[in-house]
Amino acid sequence: MSIATPIMPIWAPDTDTTDTGTEADDDAKKYSIWTIGCQMNVAESSQIAAAFQHAGLREAKREEDADVIVLNSCVVRQAAEDKVRGKIGALQRLKRAKPGLKIALTGCLATKHEDELMRQYPVLDLVFEPGAIDELGRILPELDDDLVALPHYYLPEDTAPSVTAFVPIITGCNKVCSYCIVPYRRGKERSRPVAEIAAEVARIAEAGVREVTLLGQIVDRYGYDFKDGTDLATLLYAIHDTPGLDRIRFLTSHPAYMDERLLRAVAELPKACEHINLPVQSGDDEVLRRMRRNYAANDYRRQIGEIRAIMPDATIATDIIVGFCGETDAQFQNTLRLLEDVSCDVTHVAMYSPRKGTASARWEDDVPRDVKLARHQAVERLQERISTEHNDRLVGREMELLVDGQGHGRWRGRTRGNKLVFFDDTADRLGQMVHMRVTEATPWFLRGELTAVEGEPVSGVGN
Ligand code: SF4
Repeated sequence: MSIATPIMPIWAPDTDTTDTGTEADDDAKKYSIWTIGCQMNVAESSQIAAAFQHAGLREAKREEDADVIVLNSCVVRQAAEDKVRGKIGALQRLKRAKPGLKIALTGCLATKHEDELMRQYPVLDLVFEPGAIDELGRILPELDDDLVALPHYYLPEDTAPSVTAFVPIITGCNKVCSYCIVPYRRGKERSRPVAEIAAEVARIAEAGVREVTLLGQIVDRYGYDFKDGTDLATLLYAIHDTPGLDRIRFLTSHPAYMDERLLRAVAELPKACEHINLPVQSGDDEVLRRMRRNYAANDYRRQIGEIRAIMPDATIATDIIVGFCGETDAQFQNTLRLLEDVSCDVTHVAMYSPRKGTASARWEDDVPRDVKLARHQAVERLQERISTEHNDRLVGREMELLVDGQGHGRWRGRTRGNKLVFFDDTADRLGQMVHMRVTEATPWFLRGELTAVEGEPVSGVGN
């Protein structure tokens, strides 16, 4: 899993909640949620929003209008932690102007340091561990007597449905990758019961969600802690026939646990998308050993071969850390060779930076920054060429797209293989499953033209 993104390749931007309120809600107490980090945090922020809505609060148009602010923090990199601490500091002014404001902190910074953080930042009214949403019930009655303590609440309810949703299925991590802080902050692995996840998926699918992404630090370790043979494949089969659900994805896999049973389940189940996110981190065995990744570069090569043997059209994404302690030029060249050999569709690359509290933070961070930067650029250049080759091959192909929003004045969606596609259309296509012919490829996204839309005659396309 990535040092930069313990769950998923794309960092969630800092997000203040957007307005969904109406004039009738003006008297209601309001909340605002600020989120950084991985998809796990994004998913938990959605659950917090759902819990607030359930308790009668409404989303604030602006952070300044909120009666309660929740900061959902990330510490995977020092820069992320600095940003969270800066945000806490910046809220002091708002709290002075509005003494009734309640501020709560959760996420990875909050783990195991509640008392220390409360002492350090008197502006905070509450610090609670990730997932302990019930804790918010301690401060809500202070805002308004009528706001009763939150019930234990895991399933999003009463929230405006979006097309896609993240569903955490396993939290924590039992590995000890030498550069990673996550096991120290998120604790041991804990899988959620199949029935509980299936109920959540059924509920959000009924509310309009068509694609779910199952989340875990090592998602393919799902069920190991039950010790009864339950695994991620079991879960895929269990939720596959959920009415209204069209697609299932999962993030992030670990090369040591992705097995043939899982790959065969993905290949066999029509709703399981053939997109595999499998971070390798380095292509050099000695670096992998010091990273404590428990596999060798050739194991990874074999695994990619197995994925493609079972699913020839699978798209594959990986993560790389460049400039890990002691990484020589020759070792870095092994990483480039591996990337060339496995030819992933996407490579997310991060420059190593030590994280206090991890094993590697005790070792010398001896690769100079300009060398790290040059290696970062070399990976990006190589991947740009490989991605171009992959995407060029798609021009002229018909692909299925789930439209999930707009960007740059165009409709935007993802293929089953998670390729980003833009297209023009004057009709409202949000949430629709469309078919499209790819007309143009870049290394980062595709452009296409509509050829069919579910439930519409072909002549209706492109109006
Ligand atoms: S310790 Fe766990 S979360 Fe961190 S990189 Fe390794 S597998 Fe991923």
